[in-house]
Amino acid sequence: MSDSSDLLHRFLLPDAHVRGAHVRLDATWKHVLSHASYPEAVEALLGEALVASALLSAHTKVEGRLSLQARSSGALRTLFAECTAAGTLRGIARLADGEAPPQNLASLGSDAMLAVTIENPGLGGGEPVRYQGLVPLESPTLSGALEDYFDRSEQLPTRLILAADGERAAGLLLQALPGAGSDDDGWNRISLLATTLGHEEMLDLSADILLTRLFHQETLQDLGAKPLQFGCSCSQGRVEDMLRALGREEAEAAAGASVSGQAEIICEFCGKHYHLSSSEIDRLFLAPPAVTPSSRLQ
Ligand SMILES: [Zn+2]
Repeated sequence: MSDSSDLLHRFLLPDAHVRGAHVRLDATWKHVLSHASYPEAVEALLGEALVASALLSAHTKVEGRLSLQARSSGALRTLFAECTAAGTLRGIARLADGEAPPQNLASLGSDAMLAVTIENPGLGGGEPVRYQGLVPLESPTLSGALEDYFDRSEQLPTRLILAADGERAAGLLLQALPGAGSDDDGWNRISLLATTLGHEEMLDLSADILLTRLFHQETLQDLGAKPLQFGCSCSQGRVEDMLRALGREEAEAAAGASVSGQAEIICEFCGKHYHLSSSEIDRLFLAPPAVTPSSRLQ
């Protein structure tokens, strides 16, 4: 295994009948934070969500992208993290104006939901195929909410350990393999070992050292590592789709409000600026939309 940061490792503990994934983010996480400033608790939640999106993409068959989205009418309106099959990540948190920032997911209110969405490319270049799983956010922690999600969706014992600070983010996913293994105590032993992991240990150690430290008495099979990096899929075309979806009035208001007479749209994920003049906006509403109105900047 490599010692460099920003990697997704997959591994198997064959004797214990358990599979796992480990993610560590350094430069990717710093890049996400360079575009926004969040209260400490929200920052930690976003770092954990990014790590979790990568862990889940390792676990599930993802050919396009996998996203996690927590939504609520409480102080944290949106928590969004996405990992693509190519290993690019991006994420964002949106807070309600004028409300105290949440300290954890429990303070989001009873309507808070967590959505796990997988979007794979359609066959023969057709419309993307989306699968979405929804769970109510009943746990105060993201790892707890995702364990609830696995309980409901796959019914396989799953453990997630997530950690993030302003510099690094890391996580570990462990899941019992389907069917019975030869070792009846395998899952209990592995999940108990994982509970001994401290927050700092999680953030400080490379996958190599961490997995060796935890599972040195187990057979550990390395299934390979994949590099991860920041990446945003915004484009001029997607911005135009979004303005079309907003409608002519709002698009023209955006252009009219600026001194230059151009609508300026800044991607919240990567900070890239897009400009459209009034005549370009006119053109948007003359041409038939190339896509459905549900298209979004994401
Ligand atoms: Zn962008």
